[in-house]
Amino acid sequence: MAKRDYYQVLGVDKGASKDEIKKAYRRLAVQYHPDRNQGDKQAEEKFKEATEAYEVLADERKRQAYDQFGFAGLEGMGFETHDFSSVFRDFEDIFDGFNFTGFFDSFFGGGRSRTRRGGGRSSARRGADLRYELEISFAEAVFGKKEEITFTRNESCEECSGSGADKGSGKKVCPSCGGTGQVRRSSGFFSIATTCPSCNGEGEIIEKPCAACGGRGLVSRRRTIKITIPAGIETGKRISIPGQGDGGMNGGPPGDLYVYIRVLTHEYFERNGNDLYCVIPISVSQAALGGEIYVSTLENSRKVKVKIPAGTQNGKMLRLREEGVPYLRSPDRRGDLYIKILVEIPTKVSGRARSLLQELGTLTGEQSDPKPVRLSDLQ
Ligand SMILES: [Zn+2]
Ligand SMILES: [Zn+2]
Repeated sequence: MAKRDYYQVLGVDKGASKDEIKKAYRRLAVQYHPDRNQGDKQAEEKFKEATEAYEVLADERKRQAYDQFGFAGLEGMGFETHDFSSVFRDFEDIFDGFNFTGFFDSFFGGGRSRTRRGGGRSSARRGADLRYELEISFAEAVFGKKEEITFTRNESCEECSGSGADKGSGKKVCPSCGGTGQVRRSSGFFSIATTCPSCNGEGEIIEKPCAACGGRGLVSRRRTIKITIPAGIETGKRISIPGQGDGGMNGGPPGDLYVYIRVLTHEYFERNGNDLYCVIPISVSQAALGGEIYVSTLENSRKVKVKIPAGTQNGKMLRLREEGVPYLRSPDRRGDLYIKILVEIPTKVSGRARSLLQELGTLTGEQSDPKPVRLSDLQ
């Protein structure tokens, strides 16, 4: 059966706010809730359909992927449409005042989104996103490279599938708070309710902690993965690697890994977008007479021949087409390399050079009262 559009399912329009989406889902969920429609297959389908739509539209990243590319976008980004972790996250909030506790387990039962054990309160939690800072050389940023990075992440414990409980043992009502998740403390005249420290507000504790993870549900592991740095990347850009963040808790999905790029400066090249810039010093006679020079590129000792026209002025900019940085999205296109010419005036002049320069001055008609030029007339 073809799937209906998620916005249509919830009866909201495309620009609906998070709040409107939540309200729409709440209304449908209460209406089609299995507890109220026992044995009604149609209601059950409606309920599932609404929950799936809510799961996608309530998650900003999924909603964006869906808006742009539809159902294919969600698959393309590796999202599971039957991952109901954000419904669970918002559970108390959405169904506040309705006594639906415990139904999710039997209803969606099994699978990785199974979150409720014995009617308890512990819920599936997505793992944290991780940030990795990577420094690369200027040339690596221009041409891209494959890199191995090693980092530490918290992975779901295989022994207990991330639950923290030893095999065969479950969870029991927390004896400190009696399952409410809160304890009351007297302070002078006041009695203050605080999160129960024994169960961290979960209302239940593990009967027997898993030996492998000490009850955390997560174990710390070193991981080495290969990443591809695309040619043309810049400082501040990040590469996201889905699913390589911390593992989820209680069956929740893992977070993502973000590799933040910092590009080191180059000895003489600078970059502006896809164009490269450098300054090349030449002599007065090269500037006046013209000639050929060889300029280093970023590629391993490859040099390009550059023609200096006779009469080249100081500050002249020469452009070498397609010797710049490849475009991130179309690597066969490249920016240009700009060479700014710096005519070096000799500073220590003596002997024969001195007399040659004096003669040159006379021959080129130097003036002792040169005519001023407006600054803005110079390019
Ligand atoms: Zn464990
Ligand atoms: Zn407790």
